[in-house]
Amino acid sequence: MKNAAKTKLIHNISSIRDEIKKYKEKKSVIGFAPTMGALHVGHESLIKKAKQDCDVVIVSIFVNPAQFGPSEDFDKYPRQLEQDRETCEKLGVDIIFAPASEELYPQSETFTNENLTMVIPPSSYQEKLCGKSRKGHFNGVATIVLKLFNIINPDRAYFGRKDAQQLIIIKKMVNDLNIPVQIIDCPTVREPDGLAFSSRNKYLDTESRKKADCIYKTLKNIEGKYLSGEVSAKDLINQAKKNIHADMHIEYFEALDIDTLCPVENITSGNLVAIAVKIKGVRLIDNIFL
Ligand code: AMP
Repeated sequence: MKNAAKTKLIHNISSIRDEIKKYKEKKSVIGFAPTMGALHVGHESLIKKAKQDCDVVIVSIFVNPAQFGPSEDFDKYPRQLEQDRETCEKLGVDIIFAPASEELYPQSETFTNENLTMVIPPSSYQEKLCGKSRKGHFNGVATIVLKLFNIINPDRAYFGRKDAQQLIIIKKMVNDLNIPVQIIDCPTVREPDGLAFSSRNKYLDTESRKKADCIYKTLKNIEGKYLSGEVSAKDLINQAKKNIHADMHIEYFEALDIDTLCPVENITSGNLVAIAVKIKGVRLIDNIFL
């Protein structure tokens, strides 16, 4: 068997642009998976899908300061570049783009549209679900994703359904701004008990981790009831709330239309049920597409 070429680790914009130029000259199809690192099986599924579909796979690893609020976990967010490099190597990733913050935001210490040109998704998309408690989060997400698209110029970009609001906002941005990239959404990958893989699961203590399995079980329970004919979003969600462990604070639990992110009264096929809970300060999100 031919040895896979080593994954290149690139930290600056001009070097990655030089590499991309070579691939573009060869007309290679470029697949891109943006991440914040601490790679787990969920990220790996995006990379594997990109490997199947594309000639070249690029993974970015960047903990984006612009999408963290002042009281959020930017400083303690897990960073493990060496381990991530090994994962990428194992999966045959061609390039890891891991810039320092100053490389992407040379003039910015704060992230507002007063000192940085930012992408502001419509308020009807961003001021709900996670956006309610994470003010400005999706401005930071949309801005970094557009910057990365402009640097890497991928043909296809891979995003997880785990972050459904992010996925829907990115699709809208690509559509509204005519960005020449195809967004591929990938199913949520879960632990055996159903908990969605997340870099933040590391923050859970043993007891909270055990309790966290109720989130997906509750979503599956809603799916079961919906499939057997119950459609009232209010009734389904009110009943389901009883299955969320009493130690968990429910931040939101809603049924929504996936194109507009507007709440629905009666659930129909293709709707999204999304939940965020906090347990001992750890915020967990999950969802199910019905
Ligand atoms: P993050 O590193 O958390 O910014 O995530 C990078 C990408 O991986 C995003 O598109 C996420 O939606 C996706 N992702 C994270 N967790 C999972 C998961 N459990 N299953 C599938 N995709 C995921």
